Amino acid sequence: MYLWKQVDPLMQHQGEKVLKALLDSGHSAYFVGGCVRDELMDRPVHDMDIATSAKPEMVMDLFERTIPTGLQHGTVTVLMGDYPFEVTTFRKESHYEDHRHPSAVEFVSGIVEDLQRRDFTMNAIARSLDGELTDPFLGLEDIRKGIIRCVGKAEERFNEDALRMMRAIRFASVFGFRPVKSLWRALTNGRDKLSFVAMERIRAELERLVLGSHPLRGLELLRRSRLLHYAKIPFKEPGELTREQHQRLQALNHLPAEPQGLRWSMLLQGLAVSGSEAEALMKEWTFSNQVAETTAEIMRFDASWREIRSSLEVEETERLRRSWVSQQLLYGQTISGLWLERESQWLAYTGGEGREARLRLHEEEMQWHLAVPVHDLKELAIRGGDVLAALDLKGGPWLGELMKQVLLLVAVGDAPNEKKALLEYVKAVVRQNES
Ligand code: ATP
Ligand code: MG
Repeated sequence: MYLWKQVDPLMQHQGEKVLKALLDSGHSAYFVGGCVRDELMDRPVHDMDIATSAKPEMVMDLFERTIPTGLQHGTVTVLMGDYPFEVTTFRKESHYEDHRHPSAVEFVSGIVEDLQRRDFTMNAIARSLDGELTDPFLGLEDIRKGIIRCVGKAEERFNEDALRMMRAIRFASVFGFRPVKSLWRALTNGRDKLSFVAMERIRAELERLVLGSHPLRGLELLRRSRLLHYAKIPFKEPGELTREQHQRLQALNHLPAEPQGLRWSMLLQGLAVSGSEAEALMKEWTFSNQVAETTAEIMRFDASWREIRSSLEVEETERLRRSWVSQQLLYGQTISGLWLERESQWLAYTGGEGREARLRLHEEEMQWHLAVPVHDLKELAIRGGDVLAALDLKGGPWLGELMKQVLLLVAVGDAPNEKKALLEYVKAVVRQNES
């Protein structure tokens, strides 16, 4: 038995059960793809895919709990314990249509033929139950050299499925690997075929690239290849980047990958996209609404706060603080916190004039953020109903406005969050409006 170093032992145990059951019923079966590659690279393995000579119907018969995930590709998900395993019948693909989908999938009997249809040599290695590797395209050697090479002729492989160009750059970026010359040549020659690929698939690869550990490297490869220029919804290329934009991109590597809006907002801002453009662009690019909105909100927060800052002198601390608090109420505590986190990272990369003052103000921003005692009407010591009862008035749109005023009052620290004090304030305001 082979002891996997990068696999959760429980997952390994269940995965081996699946493999054994297939072997016991007379089929061949291997672990393949990402799990074998990541184990060889000493990177954590998150899931284990299995390739087998058993046809999908047999796999469904053999195991109690299965999901027909992609029968047309020969894939069945087998649930063993708490773990899902994708079990795919050995296959080759013939006749690609439109540079993206094989029009026919043909099952084959041997693992080597199955490995041959896979994209890169590092992804075309199989591992048997006892740990023996089947590595006909010398993927292990390429992993050791740190290079990305297609299985077979790169032109043909990219021509079959244009997404592979994007995957090549993603793997190069995440692993810090170098694409071999022939691959790069094929990519720059074949890049226009990316227009045939669904945006969802391109976005999924882009997401892994940007959230991986060396996003800058991937972005540089994307820039050099101009690959995204050929997507269905092309990414407009930024002109010459300013110093500030460069610094934003530099900071990207050091931001946490979650929540995603942190990196996306930094990236888009570094590419001179505005907050309102960002939301539409990301939605078009099939990002989830939540990621698109958080990204755009962080960018809008940034633009608005910059404008306020530039309209006030640094000495006007109290006015700055009040503006900060109203902005924080407007955008919410989460966005405000994310902006601060992003700003701290970015400030580590900025230099030049005014830096000291900016750092001092940033310290204050963080204190202001933490000191805000209430963030939401729900946290106030009075409700709309209390106000109506105290004033003996009927409700109306004025009440909402008044409550917002009360919230700001407490948030900036002009009144304590106590029922009596707040009702006094409300009465005074209404009296003043009446007179
Ligand atoms: P990750 O760790 O990002 O999931 P992975 O290698 O497991 O990487 P998957 O997209 O999960 O990537 O695909 C699993 C395997 O299927 C790959 O290792 C590769 O062998 C094969 N594969 C995936 N996509 C393609 C493709 N477009 N063309 C050829 N083979 C592919
Ligand atoms: Mg995978």
